[in-house]
Amino acid sequence: MKLKMHRETMEKELKRVLTAGSAINQLALSANACGCVALTTFPLGVNVEDIELLKAKGFIERLKRLAAELGVVPKNVSFQRGENFEILQLKVLDFCKRCEFEYEGERPWPDVSIIESRSERGHAEKDALAVLSCRGAVEEELRRVTGFPIYVSELSVFALKCGCVGLSANIRGLRRQDLTEFPYFREAAQGLGVMPKIVYARFGATPSEIIGITARDTCERCEKYTEGLYLL
Ligand SMILES: [Zn+2]
Ligand SMILES: [Zn+2]
Repeated sequence: MKLKMHRETMEKELKRVLTAGSAINQLALSANACGCVALTTFPLGVNVEDIELLKAKGFIERLKRLAAELGVVPKNVSFQRGENFEILQLKVLDFCKRCEFEYEGERPWPDVSIIESRSERGHAEKDALAVLSCRGAVEEELRRVTGFPIYVSELSVFALKCGCVGLSANIRGLRRQDLTEFPYFREAAQGLGVMPKIVYARFGATPSEIIGITARDTCERCEKYTEGLYLL
């Protein structure tokens, strides 16, 4: 998966249609437990007033093409607005059957606006399908090694502006004491083309609960700041 290259290409495109100061902080290909898959950009320096320009200058079209290339059937394009009317996320989504039905004609969340929605046929293929299957496999393996009904709500491959790439899982029901190592996650990342230097757990409000696992091929800068991580 060439997500790193795709992030760079889309950022170049964004700078061309908008301003040189804009950027794409992260590009992520993700799969949810329900079956939805998405290609999401997390832009910097893009505001809601820029959406029309992004449409007119073909940026949205270009993003949809990339999504399709990666196996995300472009059924829905939306953005999430921040409190200062900045764009936090710009997303191409391929709904699962259930979400497609539930969200039909509605805004899924108050801060999310739909740019376009069409009833395209088909569902996850290629890289998106690989991420979707990997989500299920990681969940199954976590259940097997812990003996608990662990839930992986989302799994995504990401490329960051700094140069880091990785695989990230959002998890529910996993206590710190039940997982001290998880070599499977490194293999899962490698299977999706990410060669991680580190694999670590993420914690929520309480340090006793693991809310995520990340495998990261750190860039030169981030590599220097990995002390204190709970390595798996
Ligand atoms: Zn869904
Ligand atoms: Zn980095």
